[in-house]
Amino acid sequence: MTLSGVARVAFVGSRRIFASHLPSMQSYTPAFSRQMSVGMKSVTDRLRDSGLLRTQGLIGGKWIDAYDGKTLEVHNPATGEVIANVSCMGGKETKDAISSAFDAFNSWSKLTAAERSKGLRKWYDLLMAHKEELGQLITLEQGKPLKEAVGEVDYGAKFIEFYAEEAKRVYGEIIPATLPDRRLFVLKQPVGVAGAITPWNFPLAMITRKVGPALACGCTVVVKPSEFTPLTALAAAELALQAGIPPGVVNVVMGNAPDIGDALLTSPQVRKITFTGSTAVGKKLMAGAAGTVKKVSLELGGNAPCIVFDDADLNVAVNGALAAKFRNSGQTCVCANRVLVQEGIYEKFADAFSKAVKNLKVGDGFGEGVVQGPLINKAALEKVETFVEDAVSKGAKVLLGGRRHSLGMTFYEPTVLSNVKSEMLVSREEVFGPVAPLLCFKTEEEAIHMANDTNAGLAAYIFTNNLQRTWRVSEALEYGLVGVNEGLISTEVAPFGGVKQSGLGREGSKYGMDEFLEIKYVCLGDMNRK
Ligand code: NAP
Repeated sequence: MTLSGVARVAFVGSRRIFASHLPSMQSYTPAFSRQMSVGMKSVTDRLRDSGLLRTQGLIGGKWIDAYDGKTLEVHNPATGEVIANVSCMGGKETKDAISSAFDAFNSWSKLTAAERSKGLRKWYDLLMAHKEELGQLITLEQGKPLKEAVGEVDYGAKFIEFYAEEAKRVYGEIIPATLPDRRLFVLKQPVGVAGAITPWNFPLAMITRKVGPALACGCTVVVKPSEFTPLTALAAAELALQAGIPPGVVNVVMGNAPDIGDALLTSPQVRKITFTGSTAVGKKLMAGAAGTVKKVSLELGGNAPCIVFDDADLNVAVNGALAAKFRNSGQTCVCANRVLVQEGIYEKFADAFSKAVKNLKVGDGFGEGVVQGPLINKAALEKVETFVEDAVSKGAKVLLGGRRHSLGMTFYEPTVLSNVKSEMLVSREEVFGPVAPLLCFKTEEEAIHMANDTNAGLAAYIFTNNLQRTWRVSEALEYGLVGVNEGLISTEVAPFGGVKQSGLGREGSKYGMDEFLEIKYVCLGDMNRK
């Protein structure tokens, strides 16, 4: 499709109007557009041939249109082109998805752990067998570079593999009784139907991190992916069906987020809400879940400090900060949002870091050597611009970048700001873009105070070669995750989650299972009766 064929007016029912999120046509480079149109067509053709380009919702094992026939455009953020039109669903479809999940719960929860494990393992195998196509789909709808997208498939699939194994380890307990004729047991049982609402920045991994443990425990799910990235979710659901996971165990609805959210929140059949996304929406969901007293886990926004001490290894700190900041163009909840650098190493670090950032190649995620893709939409681009303008107006200095990229669309130059202060917007809130603000500190105490001076508490990073400091600072940081001399710390085997307003509960690792289990105490009395 050429640019002139791109439909710019789209679905208006929900909170977003796509057309207004696309940059003006003037900012678009025509030659770039033609090149990518050809590329996109062959990628979508291949995906269609492999049966992975699904556009309908999945309810009770059947692919279904929205009941009123409405559709929603999914765009490639690198080009603005429409990749596909997907069903735009709402409350009615969600209620039916809940009913099918509720029915399926009866049989799925009664399977042996080994049977559930086999289904999950097969799903993992299929995700890995289609790693390349799924990676291409992520790049198409989300924009991240292909290598990073394929890496997300690896990471996302591993949650399914891990929980296929963990399914067999849901142990209960026998408690020593207080009376001789009694026996006391603790059983762990699946909580029931879970509603899983996920964001656009990890279109696969944020789903598998929830659905993997849910299914392993015996729960069934209704998944609501982001309106920006539903295609990866639908492809993953198709592979779940192919893996033999029974109809109704995994359902997917997308479209009008508030309506879908309301249906999930108000249904007494939904016993668990698991959400990853912004803190603002997370708070609404938490309040909404109170009506039916559901179990809730929330993975919300961060404001990660990345603290570089004078005694750090400069190369390790530069590479770690680079990875922590610029992955996914700065659009992850664990991205370093503030780089706090001690005064003795500040100039050297700023210089080496800026040089490294200058080498980051920006472009369409399918381009050779590209490590920085576009931002997800125009609103994200404008947010980054506002934050940079605010910082500069209050005295920050632009060391590198600081403006829209010449590629147009939603591309933004990888940016380094120095002389940043705690009161600037870039320090207070998640910038969610490729902007690294450098703040200077003098002492360890000051760094800890600056790092903790936020309502967020998801990830933090420290770079130091001092062992005692590593322990002291790790313990003092009010964060759920701490990386020491390392900028990439997420893995399926470790617990992931935030403190303060970054969330509730943990995903990944054995702890991720607890979010989908209820504990039942059984007291067997009068056991000596013959
Ligand atoms: P978002 O706007 O909160 O959206 C997340 C999901 O919630 C989407 O599926 C969205 O649907 C849905 N949603 C929005 N309003 C809703 C409502 N009233 N009821 C029910 N669902 C609703 O967040 P985002 O912009 O997609 O993602 C970025 C945010 O996620 C950042 O703050 C980031 O830090 C956070 N995040 C956190 C983690 C973590 O593990 N802590 C991981 C990744 C991202 P639509 O898109 O269809 O509107």
